[in-house]
Amino acid sequence: MRMTKETNAIPRQIKRQGSSGLLVTWADNSESQLSSETLRRQCPCAECREKRGDDSHAKPLTGKKRSLSIVQNTREEQLGLETIWGVGQYAIGIRWNDGHDSGIYTFELLAQLAGR
Ligand SMILES: [Zn+2]
Repeated sequence: MRMTKETNAIPRQIKRQGSSGLLVTWADNSESQLSSETLRRQCPCAECREKRGDDSHAKPLTGKKRSLSIVQNTREEQLGLETIWGVGQYAIGIRWNDGHDSGIYTFELLAQLAGR
């Protein structure tokens, strides 16, 4: 597996695809589709991490470390993306149609979720 280069984790464009997910165009022009399901399952806010039993939020995210999340909650929900917005030059915020909006998705996290 090749190492993720820093520049590969920088999106040129993040496009919301209705409520079903995001289409990310990276600096190298490749594209990744991230489903709402994946994004919500990996919501980086403290509340969701706690629900997942993930206590790694005390540590900074790094592009090279990968951790496997095992999610026990299989409850199916009609979850959709309601809106997204830029956070500084490093992240996006996502608001879900259930009103949840505290997750800040760094570009690094998006790159990880995209398998880059
Ligand atoms: Zn959350």
